Amino acid sequence: MSTPNSTPALANILSAQQAAFAAAGAVDADTRRRRLQTAIDLLVKYHKPLAAAMDADFGGRHPGFSLMNDVLGSLASLKHARDHFEPWMAPDKRTPFAPYDQLGAEAWVMVQPKGSVGIIGTWNAPLFTLFAPLAYVLAAGNRAILKPSEVVPRTAALVAEAVSDLFDPLEVGVVTGGPDVGAAFAAQPFDHLVFTGSTAVGKAVMRAAADNLVPVTLELGGKSPTIIGRSADLATAAFRIAAGKGANGGQLCVNPDVIYVAREQLESFVASLKTAFAGLFPTAAGNPDLTAVVNERHLTRIDGYVAQAAAAGARVETCPDGVISGDGERRRPLRIVIDPPTDSAIMREEIFGPAVVVLGYDDIDAVIADINGRSRPLALYYFGEDAAEQQKVLAHTLSGGVSINEVMFHAAMHDAPFGGVGASGMGRYHGREGFLEFSHLRTVFKAPAYDPRREWGMLPPYGEHFLAAMEAQVTP
Ligand code: NAD
Repeated sequence: MSTPNSTPALANILSAQQAAFAAAGAVDADTRRRRLQTAIDLLVKYHKPLAAAMDADFGGRHPGFSLMNDVLGSLASLKHARDHFEPWMAPDKRTPFAPYDQLGAEAWVMVQPKGSVGIIGTWNAPLFTLFAPLAYVLAAGNRAILKPSEVVPRTAALVAEAVSDLFDPLEVGVVTGGPDVGAAFAAQPFDHLVFTGSTAVGKAVMRAAADNLVPVTLELGGKSPTIIGRSADLATAAFRIAAGKGANGGQLCVNPDVIYVAREQLESFVASLKTAFAGLFPTAAGNPDLTAVVNERHLTRIDGYVAQAAAAGARVETCPDGVISGDGERRRPLRIVIDPPTDSAIMREEIFGPAVVVLGYDDIDAVIADINGRSRPLALYYFGEDAAEQQKVLAHTLSGGVSINEVMFHAAMHDAPFGGVGASGMGRYHGREGFLEFSHLRTVFKAPAYDPRREWGMLPPYGEHFLAAMEAQVTP
């Protein structure tokens, strides 16, 4: 029952979950804690084969990196949710309006689970994009069905096996398959849908969800800009960007995509970036520390962006140097594409791989204008010690999140919301905000015994004083 590959089977699991949810009523803290602990136990039990599956699916992804990024990243969310959710469940007392506040009325906001939540994940962080949202979905008292990415088939199959090993499918189930299954999944009458993936597919998911008025959390991508202010320490900035850019072979949603550097500092920055990257990854081919590009399609896409920019006159620096050869070798050095034409694919599309754009600037206002002329990014990075400039960048731009003097670290905050804005998504998970995302906030008003409306002439048939009494209250 945990790995159906047909729409009727998926619909059956969903309706069985929704029936079990309705029959169970309130979901107490012990039940939520047990479910969260089961997800934690699953990752602990299966972490080694899961890391091996990711290594095989990528054609090279260090098991230590998979543990850090996917297993420990997911465990951190699950444990944070497990250790903090209980006070978040409590009803929140509110003050009724006058004069009912004086007459014994009561009011509160119930924080209720929504029901059954669908979670569609990506290949680039195949466990994190399923289990990090699951943490807050379960903490909020919901049930869930996961849809891993077909691009990492071994990992997807193992997630299905592990979930069916440890979970009752009425609580958490898995369906596997590609875009067709994804489309059928998004068309189901879930009580909430979490989609992580590309902006283009996110639009299709939202359209499908609209047919059932299913609320969506969309965790999308985009071209996250990095601004190197003139006050930045170039070597530190270059090192931190190199470490971020090298993580998962650049295949992370919050990866730095376009770097803006003051024109007079550009050569020095590029040299520092090359040195820093080559220090972390002295070789590309065969280097177990470097994550391979996940498949030939993505390799062709990224290499195509670089080749097109080069053909259009952009300078391309490569680090580390070295010949890439060998059948099936998809590890690539970092390609630094300097000042490509604005209409080139690498300036329009999310790179999502081992390449980065560096643009020279004269004026920080022009950088801000350029960022604001593009779709809202998932992340924005500012390096520098100039507090006024930092404030200006923060105040005049909008992005899902920000790291200052670092890249990507804000996404690792389990106590703060993570999500996009505009084309980079909507909604959020992590922290209390993630718990609330998957909860229904239900206002309850409890009336007092005494109803004053008849006595006060507020019910029809209206008396002669009703209009004047209403008008008297229209005050500024
Ligand atoms: P993708 O959009 O190609 O696929 C994501 C998932 O959607 C897969 O499980 C796929 O099977 C499914 N799918 C495909 N077509 C579908 C359809 N019509 N309806 C429903 N589901 C469908 O994305 P990807 O290539 O797996 O991931 C890369 C993208 O994800 C990048 O844009 C990246 O920035 C983004 N991303 C965002 C976050 C975040 O947290 N914001 C995290 C990781 C990746």
